[in-house]
Amino acid sequence: MMMKALALILLTAVLSAPSWTQEKPQDRRRFLDPKTQVSDDPRRIVVKPGPRGPEGTLVLRGGRIFDGTGSPAHEGTLVIERNKIVKILPANSSDWPKDAQVMDVSGKTVLPGLIDLHTHLTYPLNEENFGLASNEADATLRGAEKLRYFIESGITSVRDVGSQGDVPFRLKEWVRENRIPGPRVFPAGAFITGEGGHSTENTPDELILRMGATRLASGPDDWRQAVREQFHKGADVIKLGSHFSTEEIKAAVTEAHELGLKVTVDSETFYIQRAVEAGADTIEHPLPRSEETIQLMAKKGVAADPTLIPYQIIFDEWGGYFGSTSRRFTFSKDANLEMLKRLRKAGIKCGVGTDLILHWYRYMPGPYIRELKNFVDAGWSVPEALVAATKTNSEILDMDDRLGTLQAGKLADVLVVNGKPDENLDDLAKVELVIRDGYQVVVGGHVAIPRHSAEKAWKSATAPAEMK
Ligand SMILES: [Zn+2]
Repeated sequence: MMMKALALILLTAVLSAPSWTQEKPQDRRRFLDPKTQVSDDPRRIVVKPGPRGPEGTLVLRGGRIFDGTGSPAHEGTLVIERNKIVKILPANSSDWPKDAQVMDVSGKTVLPGLIDLHTHLTYPLNEENFGLASNEADATLRGAEKLRYFIESGITSVRDVGSQGDVPFRLKEWVRENRIPGPRVFPAGAFITGEGGHSTENTPDELILRMGATRLASGPDDWRQAVREQFHKGADVIKLGSHFSTEEIKAAVTEAHELGLKVTVDSETFYIQRAVEAGADTIEHPLPRSEETIQLMAKKGVAADPTLIPYQIIFDEWGGYFGSTSRRFTFSKDANLEMLKRLRKAGIKCGVGTDLILHWYRYMPGPYIRELKNFVDAGWSVPEALVAATKTNSEILDMDDRLGTLQAGKLADVLVVNGKPDENLDDLAKVELVIRDGYQVVVGGHVAIPRHSAEKAWKSATAPAEMK
């Protein structure tokens, strides 16, 4: 009987584990009891147990709940305690503590916070001012400024796939501690590529080094070392770019997986095939690839982050994509949309990322909404596009156990918009309230920072002992 029960428990454990866990023997989660508190990032580092987020209960009463699971929106009330969603009540229920803060959101839509899979928080605003841009203090402030645009657009998590030095890691910490407003940051650290590879073209090595967002690597040992360097800095994901040899990409992907991190690759044509064969988890951009590669992506469950929007801006503003040795193919809006259609047809999981370089973050939320419309143009329904932006993105991030849907037990990353974005994507621009980790970061459509409380600080355990 005991054995039978044990077998059943084991079987259930195997069945409920995400497929990634089953395929990857190096995944440490099999050794983690769900009760062991770990960091809210893909690194899953054991942390001191205890409550997180602001004190108290927050009730979003009577809204249209679009929970991101694929179910249609329904009337309901969302109850948040500290940094977690505790329940979703029927519209007529008022089953919450008396001292809860209650916000009436009737007529508005409550949905999971949006996720952007492709940012570069420290990239400079223009090409002229590289001198100042490579200054790490300026890069940090620039990153903090960009975070505001993203959070005010309803984006509660960004996957940063290439930024300068320690900056994205410090931004991640400051947001996590709620010391600056912004979305959660899941940084890759520096983008790893070969000499002359993508992001290094037309740029002298000296300047690449000074900009600090690209790590040039040569040979399998050095690619492995470059991955370890990002892990050491605090990477939540590893970003690789062509060009690379079969041995180099294999070494880097294997190392990342053994360290517990997913790998995303910016590559084109046969390099995509090479990356997929090496075990990459996601391929960035809508760049050309063979039907054989698309089928291999589908077979191996490799996801795509198609990012059509940056190229639409490039084609519109620059008239084409010129002078790039990593883009030696016919490149057009039509070809990119066609690629997205082919990915969908093959059943490949597609996520949403904007890759807004230069000053383009100032166009937000327009580019994010445009990217969702690209999905619709390629065959997604509007609700399906929103599921891609939330649930699917959380899966690609390796965070679907805590983010991406509105369900009891998930982290409270919540967006309230004044409209019905599941019917009209433009309504996503009507952001009312954004909650990240239980904190109300955007109120009335703009970042809201409560006045500091000296009294609280006085009592706080973090104040030096002699001041208490
Ligand atoms: Zn990029």
